[in-house]
Amino acid sequence: MKRLIQNARILTMDAQMRALDPGWILLEDDRIRDLGEMPGDPAALPPADESIDAERGIVLPGLINTHCHVSMMPFRGLGDDCPDRLRRFLFPLENEAMTEELVYRAARYGTGEMLLAGVTTFVDMYYFEHQVARACDEMGMRGILGETVIGQPTCDSRTPYGGLALAERFVKEWKGHPRIRPAVAPHATNTNSPEMLKKAKRLADEYDTLLTLHASEMDYELAYFRENFGKTPVEFLKALDLLGPRLLAAHCIHLTGDDIRLLAGSGTAVSHCIGSNTKAGKGVAPVKALLLAGVKTGLGTDGASSGNTLDLFTQFRLFASFHKTKNRDRSLFPASEIVALGTKGGAQALGMEREIGSLEPGKKADLILVETKSMNMFPCYDPYSALVYSANASNVEMTVADGEILVRDKKLVRAQEGKLRAQMEEEMGAFVRAAAKY
Ligand SMILES: [Zn+2]
Repeated sequence: MKRLIQNARILTMDAQMRALDPGWILLEDDRIRDLGEMPGDPAALPPADESIDAERGIVLPGLINTHCHVSMMPFRGLGDDCPDRLRRFLFPLENEAMTEELVYRAARYGTGEMLLAGVTTFVDMYYFEHQVARACDEMGMRGILGETVIGQPTCDSRTPYGGLALAERFVKEWKGHPRIRPAVAPHATNTNSPEMLKKAKRLADEYDTLLTLHASEMDYELAYFRENFGKTPVEFLKALDLLGPRLLAAHCIHLTGDDIRLLAGSGTAVSHCIGSNTKAGKGVAPVKALLLAGVKTGLGTDGASSGNTLDLFTQFRLFASFHKTKNRDRSLFPASEIVALGTKGGAQALGMEREIGSLEPGKKADLILVETKSMNMFPCYDPYSALVYSANASNVEMTVADGEILVRDKKLVRAQEGKLRAQMEEEMGAFVRAAAKY
């Protein structure tokens, strides 16, 4: 099947940051076949089974959400302003009321929300992760999905560290899937013992998967490592031999110069979650320094409990505002660099830059069309600027992942929004009752 998208402002996000305006792009099955500038004579366009007029909308690579807990949708808006929410609120409620079926239905809902917002690939860490994989598969998305390993009882394991055995089973079950890559996800530097962190790393090594955890996020995490080991969390990970190209560390808000050198030197990647970090008042990660040091960095939303949205347009805008304000420099991050973090930066952070993250012949057909017809998108002088400062998720007109159109005319193709909501809500009764106590 050949599909042609024409009359678009195409942002390739390739090494030269080429833009084709107006341009066309030809997809063949799950790959990008070719792309170019619109010819004077439309008859010179390549033949295709379907031709789509983008009406000068912006076509760019599918957005990559490098840190998420998609099944935390039921937590959205709960205890938003509660101090130390993770330990006082999230962990207990999760253990009491998160069920396997709710993980599945919430993952369908959350992946639907991401697709409507132009996210084609996401990294996830949660419990019952096989249900997240099932939902992700059904919805047609690309996912790098990790079963959580943590030193306390959880909703899917009554014994601490039960997640490790579940992770191995999950990895074996899903390895080799064309769109889903299983990963190993020890929860955080301080919620696992050093031995268990090493075991998680060995499991990831054995099955050649991504390893992802929360790092340098919490004040009490930093204090714990300082007081007990005289180290920063990153130095601690280095001592355990966890740093390396396999590791994707989420947050990394509080870093020293040495930490940044360790991350860069080891090839460790960072998922920067500006919305989640600033909503909680935790701080603004030193992303400019990370990028200057050569650390592979992508953007993440975190779960709907922490950031309330799974949409990267919100992250673009928050990223620009916070980093410019913190550094008192409006030119610090041009809009094109911010869009790059949400596309090819994410692909590099996942070690998937040969497959996704830019629009080039031979790469996977993962792309989105952001319309410029809505009132909030006119005029559009610079498409990067429009994406960062004007656009929101509702401007995503079409989402294509692995060559399949999953959102067309702003509607999900494989599912219906109303049904996704009703199915999740139907399963939320016990959760809502439990939440009322907190
Ligand atoms: Zn997280």
